[in-house]
Amino acid sequence: MRYHKAMPDSSLFPNQPSRRALLGALGAFVAAFACATSLARAVTYEVTHTDAEWHKILSPEQYIILRESGTERAFSSPLDEEKRAGTYECAGCRLALYDSSTKYDSGTGWPSFFRPLPNAVLTSVDTSFGEVRNEVHCRRCGSHLGHVFDDGPKPTGLRYCMNGLALIFILRS
Ligand SMILES: [Zn+2]
Repeated sequence: MRYHKAMPDSSLFPNQPSRRALLGALGAFVAAFACATSLARAVTYEVTHTDAEWHKILSPEQYIILRESGTERAFSSPLDEEKRAGTYECAGCRLALYDSSTKYDSGTGWPSFFRPLPNAVLTSVDTSFGEVRNEVHCRRCGSHLGHVFDDGPKPTGLRYCMNGLALIFILRS
């Protein structure tokens, strides 16, 4: 670190990357590496809150699902039966996640969709409960929403199995 001691102002040497730039590059590398193993845990989300703030934003039941990757009881959400036209938003940050035109009755007891809206969700591998499942998170706030399976209908063949408590339905007027 002799260089830094002798020349504390690195802007005197424009060809030298600043310490901040170096740290930024290192951070990007670490994030990219971590992404390979756990996307949801590694990225920095646009919307972030402290744990105390999340407790204020969400009900206790929503907190368990969105922030602790819990799962609501099957057939417990009124949104499972919702058939009206509208948009389903993230209960954590209100990002629009699904359009009603992609919702279908999967018979599982959870609101199910065959396709999210563009740039709405991220997935990561979840190995809890002794099985490999693809966990679905909100792209903007990272909240856990549910899982995606490959037994859905055409045209995608995907089933986005969502917790109703993670969604807010906005009726299209
Ligand atoms: Zn969100």
